[in-house]
Amino acid sequence: MPLKIDKTKCMGCGACITVCPYDAIVMEDGVARIGEYCQLCQACLSSCPEGAIMEKKDEQVAPVEDMADWKGVWVFAEQRDGRIAPVAFELLGEGRKLAAARGAELCAVLFGAAKSEAQELVKWGADRVYYCGDPIFQGFTDEPNAELLSRLISKYRPEVVLAGATAIGRSFLPRVAARLKTGLTADCTSLEIEAETGNLIQTRPAYGGNIMASILSPRTRPQMATVRPKVMKAGRYEPDRQGEIIEVDAEGIRARTKVLETMKAQDDGVNVNLQEADVIISGGRGVKGKEGFEMLKELAQLLNGTIGASRAAVDEGWIPYCHQVGQTGKTVCPKLYIACGISGAVQHLVGMQSSDVIIAINKNPEAPIFSAATYGLVGDLNEIIPLLVKKLRERKDGK
Ligand SMILES: Cc1cc2nc3c(=O)[nH]c(=O)nc-3n(C[C@H](O)[C@H](O)[C@H](O)COP(=O)(O)OP(=O)(O)OC[C@H]3O[C@@H](n4cnc5c(N)ncnc54)[C@H](O)[C@@H]3O)c2cc1C
Repeated sequence: MPLKIDKTKCMGCGACITVCPYDAIVMEDGVARIGEYCQLCQACLSSCPEGAIMEKKDEQVAPVEDMADWKGVWVFAEQRDGRIAPVAFELLGEGRKLAAARGAELCAVLFGAAKSEAQELVKWGADRVYYCGDPIFQGFTDEPNAELLSRLISKYRPEVVLAGATAIGRSFLPRVAARLKTGLTADCTSLEIEAETGNLIQTRPAYGGNIMASILSPRTRPQMATVRPKVMKAGRYEPDRQGEIIEVDAEGIRARTKVLETMKAQDDGVNVNLQEADVIISGGRGVKGKEGFEMLKELAQLLNGTIGASRAAVDEGWIPYCHQVGQTGKTVCPKLYIACGISGAVQHLVGMQSSDVIIAINKNPEAPIFSAATYGLVGDLNEIIPLLVKKLRERKDGK
C-alpha cells in the first residue's frame, strides 16, 4: 500500500531517511517527502517518532463495478517478420489452464502476420483469434499496437491478458495497462487462478530474486501479465483443431514512428538467439577472461551450440550483454546447458534451471550450481573442457 507523510506532524528529524534502504525519502523545506524510488517496504513506518508516516488507505482504487462482465483469457501473439514468436504458443499452453479454471474461452490476438498464421494459433489451442492484417503492423511500433489492443480489450472485456516479456511485450503492454487503468505484472514465472475470487495470482521474483512475490490486481480488470519466453511449456498442437477468426480493422490508427531497418543481434557473426538454442555452453567468472570464452566457443561449435554467460563475466567485459543468462539477462530452456565456472547464484539459476539437462563444471564441490545440475564435474575447467573438445573431435573424425 502506498505511504504518505502527514506534513502537520513531521518535525524534519530525518529518522525515516536514515532507515530507508532505497534512499527514497528526501527532506524538502524541513519536511520529509516520499519519492519515486519507494518500494513500499514500510521500514520507515515505525521509525517516525511523531507517527507522521502512514498508509494511503483513502487512495485505494475502487473496484470496477462490472467485474463479472470481464470474461475469458487472451494471449497477445507477437510476430516477427510475419512469423508468430514461440512464446505465444507457450502462453496458449498456460492460458488454456487458466481458462479451464474459469470455465472461459481462450482467445489470441494477432496483428500484422498473414491470416494463415491466425489458424496456427487455433491449432495451438485458441478458441478464437482477433486478427488484423493491416500493413501498419508489419514492423513493430508501440502506438498502433497499444491503440488497437486497448480498443479490443475495452470492447470484448477479457478477464486476463497475457503477453511475452520480450522486447515487444515489455515495450507496449505498459501503455495498454496505463490506458485501461489496470495493473500489469512483468516477468511472471507462474500464473494461477485463486478459486474463491477468480483473481490471477501472478508470481515473479522480487528483491533481487531473493523472494517470490505473488501479485494480485483484485480491483481492476483485465488482469495483465507478461511471461518470459521458455518459462512456460507450449500447449498441444492439434492440426485438425477448429476455431473462429474475427477480422478487425485498424481504422484511424496512426504511428508517429517508422521502422527504417531491423538488425539481428550478432556477436562475431554468431547468432546469439539464446532463447531458441538447443545447446548452450555458458561461462562465468571462473573462465577468467576472453581467452577462456574462445575455449568455450570451440566446444559450442562441436555441439552445434551457442555461448551464454553469467553477469559476472559480462560485467568483466569478457563477453557482450546479449549472451547474459539470468534474471537481468535471458531466460533459456535448451536441451543441454553446460555451466562452466559459474557458482550458481539464484539470479543465474532463475534464467536456466528449466533446461532439460544441466552439466556443471566447477572446481568448488560446494558450489550451489551443483544442486541445480543433472551431472556435476568437480575440477578445473581448463583441464576438463580441452579433454571434452578432444573427445568430441575424435568422435567427429570417426576415431
Ligand atoms: C539484481 C541482480 C540481478 C542479477 N542478475 C544476474 C543475471 O541475470 N545473471 C547472472 O548470472 N547473475 C546475475 N546477478 C549476479 C549474481 O548474483 C552473481 O553475482 C553472478 O551470477 C556470479 O557470476 P559467476 O557465477 O560467474 O561468478 P562467481 O560467483 O564469482 O563464481 C565463479 C565460480 O567459478 C568457479 N571457478 C573458478 N575458477 C575455476 C576453474 N578454473 N574451473 C572451474 N571452476 C572455477 C568458482 O568455484 C566459482 O564457483 C544479479 C545480481 C543482482 C543483485
